[in-house]
Amino acid sequence: MKYLFVFVLVLVGLWLWRNSRRADSPPASKQSARRPMSPPGLPTEIVACDVCHVHLPRSEALTGPGGVYCSTAHQQQAGG
Ligand SMILES: [Zn+2]
Repeated sequence: MKYLFVFVLVLVGLWLWRNSRRADSPPASKQSARRPMSPPGLPTEIVACDVCHVHLPRSEALTGPGGVYCSTAHQQQAGG
């Protein structure tokens, strides 16, 4: 019974040692997990509506033949 206790202690010690080694080397795993497309810190591109010159993110802007617009009304007003 005494040997079983020592064996469990050694197992727990090995498990803790392996976990601490994993925690010591996060940069390599972080670099491999980094996605090349659109990192979260990337600034949003801002464009201006061609009719009212309101600034808005490109993802929310409507594109037409003459440029970008803030709304469908301005898109139609510009002839797009
Ligand atoms: Zn507009």
